[in-house]
Amino acid sequence: MCGILGICGMTNVVNELYTGLNSLQHRGQDSAGILTCTQQFHLKKGQGLVQNIFKPKHIARLAGSLGIAHVRYPTIGGGSAEDAQPFYVSSPLGIAMAHNGNVTNYIELKKILEEKNFRHINSQCDAEVILNVFADELARHDLHKFSPDTVFTAVANVFKKVQGSYSVVGIIVNKGLFAFRDPHGIKPLIFGKKGNDSYAFASESAALDILGYKVERDVAPGEAIFIQEPVFKAPRKLFNKLIQKASHTPCIFEWVYFARPDSVMDSINVYEARLRLGEELAKEVIKKNIKADVVIPVPDSARPAAITLASVLGLPYREGLVKNRYIGRTFIMPLQESRQASVRQKLNPIKSEIKGKKILLVDDSIVRGTTSREIVNMVRNAGAKEVCLAVTCPPLKYPCVYGIDMQTKKEFIASNKQEKDIAKEIGADKIIYQPLDSLIKGVGKKTSDKSKFCTACFTGIYPTKLFDKDFKEIEKDRIKAQCMVVSP
Ligand code: SF4
Repeated sequence: MCGILGICGMTNVVNELYTGLNSLQHRGQDSAGILTCTQQFHLKKGQGLVQNIFKPKHIARLAGSLGIAHVRYPTIGGGSAEDAQPFYVSSPLGIAMAHNGNVTNYIELKKILEEKNFRHINSQCDAEVILNVFADELARHDLHKFSPDTVFTAVANVFKKVQGSYSVVGIIVNKGLFAFRDPHGIKPLIFGKKGNDSYAFASESAALDILGYKVERDVAPGEAIFIQEPVFKAPRKLFNKLIQKASHTPCIFEWVYFARPDSVMDSINVYEARLRLGEELAKEVIKKNIKADVVIPVPDSARPAAITLASVLGLPYREGLVKNRYIGRTFIMPLQESRQASVRQKLNPIKSEIKGKKILLVDDSIVRGTTSREIVNMVRNAGAKEVCLAVTCPPLKYPCVYGIDMQTKKEFIASNKQEKDIAKEIGADKIIYQPLDSLIKGVGKKTSDKSKFCTACFTGIYPTKLFDKDFKEIEKDRIKAQCMVVSP
């Protein structure tokens, strides 16, 4: 999971990129970068939070009315400084790129690029591989006759070669801003317009709202958009092409956990989806005859579901856990030790809301069980009579190969355990998972029939072509990456 932005504006866009990146900080805290373009690229990237990387001197240096930006969460690649995005190549023309996703045939493509095409890949980051495949494809054209179709043909060949998930924003010097989304649209990408001549692409609509862009629509799966720089003072022109059609399978986890509740993705309002997930989960709680005195959410993403769950059950809803907002999200912290330490610092119980009561805790997911164990323990120590944990998604069992940090199978608490054993391991009296059908119904109520979701981490059914060797390579790289992580 990463956050990306691409903006072409009337004047320098660095301030908008900086503000937009801050609004996407929840999508990655490992590194961040901004690249702008005049006749040359201006780049600043580094490790850590957006606010810590960019100083006034960098903002002053990042000139240009075209820019792209990125917040990174480590997937393939070890989270080193070299792996921070955006990346650029000088030939042909000068191309810069940032992406959100995970390339599943990264190792194979890197080998081809280095051994057959004599391109040097400097980092362990898959964005650099997509960039070089795109650059190679662009270089096959007579660039004296450059047109939007040149970009679309290059993207079509990227789609043929690059497997996995990728939402991409990029710049071609003196030509324009481009964006494309993989044929399954696994990662989100949306764009908006301000005035006559400014466009912005972002991972989430909340970033466009905050920057004052009117949302136009989501970039369609398999679509490429090119916003051409004007030759004289004419307004910019937007060109688009639906290059490859496949079944649309966006990551369902965006609505469960990742995205901001004030975002709308693929026409589904995130907050409303979470409210519906609570209603669906309540049916399961009733079916399992769970009795509780109070419903308490694990802040923040489970809060909307806890509100509706309490309402359906006719139970009081209370804030029983207080979150320190200045500690990073545990799920996206790269090392197990950082995650454990972070849970203790991040949450503190309100004992008066918990003592002597049967607590129905609501959380969005259980990955490794580390966080859940700490939280259940904390609630018990605050004097709870019973603790039941209701989870808004089904048991996570299969690795995500599309960019979420849970690639090694052994990390899942549910991979080889039944519900009662999971409850025992995390110290809860009972655990209730949302059934898969209810998850899909809850999230997808307003989506069209044609639109499905990626649910591979629950089902093991992946929307893209994958081979055993891809899993092995990804698992191997993930373990290596975890060993290489350098704290920001
Ligand atoms: S495997 Fe799970 S986390 Fe990964 S893209 Fe699919 S739904 Fe999202």
